[in-house]
Amino acid sequence: MSKPWRPATQLVHGGTTRSQHGETAEAIFLTQGFVYDTAEAAEARFKGETDGFIYARYGSPTNDMFEKRMCMLEGAEDARATASGMAAVAAAILCQVKAGDHIVAARALFGSCRWVVETLAPRYGIECTLVDGRDLANWEKAIRKNTRVFFLESPTNPTLEVVDIAGVARLADQIGAKVVVDNVFATPLFQKPLELGAHIVVYSATKHIDGQGRCLGGVVLSDKEWINTHLQDYFRHTGPAMSPFNAWTLLKGIETLPLRVRQQTENASRIADFLAGQKQVARVIYPGRSDHPQADIIARQMTGGSTLVCLELKGGKDAAFALQNALDVVKISNNLGDAKSLITHPATTTHKNLAEEARAELGIAAGTLRFSAGIEDGDDLLEDFARALSRVPA
Ligand SMILES: *Cc1c(COP(=O)(O)O)cnc(C)c1O
Repeated sequence: MSKPWRPATQLVHGGTTRSQHGETAEAIFLTQGFVYDTAEAAEARFKGETDGFIYARYGSPTNDMFEKRMCMLEGAEDARATASGMAAVAAAILCQVKAGDHIVAARALFGSCRWVVETLAPRYGIECTLVDGRDLANWEKAIRKNTRVFFLESPTNPTLEVVDIAGVARLADQIGAKVVVDNVFATPLFQKPLELGAHIVVYSATKHIDGQGRCLGGVVLSDKEWINTHLQDYFRHTGPAMSPFNAWTLLKGIETLPLRVRQQTENASRIADFLAGQKQVARVIYPGRSDHPQADIIARQMTGGSTLVCLELKGGKDAAFALQNALDVVKISNNLGDAKSLITHPATTTHKNLAEEARAELGIAAGTLRFSAGIEDGDDLLEDFARALSRVPA
């Protein structure tokens, strides 16, 4: 290869291996196991003296193509594909801690991610401190002698706050801790946590990477040493492996990631600007707008806005429900990153399990809605919002 490929090329060709048939599209290897020509070959494979697959829970050819393609895009040395985003998050955190260790995490997390660090980890003697991740001083104050892992999402769900990833990474390096970044909301195109100093990146591939509402998936990416030391045994022996069929679906999905994310971001940005000027709207939070409260950090660490928009209606829950019910092109759904535009009311869906107070801390009000832009024609989306808003009292 003469020059490193640019992302759009990596996502079409990266990691592809072909069978003896020379197929154009990636093949699906739906096999649990692998056969060896001789007993000696099996012995050598198990000793790690020869390359090759052993058992699909450890690794398999279609998954390997997906992992290599993701590594190329992320600039990571190694990766493991998992059955869901949560399998990736849980593995990335739990594989590297033991009883007596301490985790510091931003409190603005995807609901299940928060459960893993706030509820599950303490059951095994791993303590966790949740902080307001917007201020670096809070991360520093939370550090203890036994702090091993920092965990964050940026931008966050649903209020699109951002965390200074390079700043958190500097703090972690001072104490030899590892930073795990859930990069779903930024997408692998708009933010490179490893370049910013983070050590481990996780994705729910269910979101933009599939992008067409078909299957669950996840991936953990890092350097070879961390994967070999921490993730490898955990992954092999607890079994969160992705189905090869889903790896194939995701390989197809990721080919069009740049096209979809570009259209979604353009649509999100147009809708954010439109909503910001409407009398029923109290506020719009969008990482691509100069009025985002942390626009300076965004300029340093992100190369694109977002495919998501957070808005708050003045009329509270009634107005939020009225708007959702009046939308036609935009569907009501708690998923995100899909080709179809989706809208959800966090207080009664994704964040309903948080106490009112915890929701308030995260800026989730009764009138807050999260919009995930699809790839439809932006004019249709604008008309849909304009028509639906006209039914919402100011
Ligand atoms: C969806 C999501 C997850 C969980 O992914 P699944 O594939 O649904 O398991 C984790 N983190 C973030 C930020 C998400 O949006």
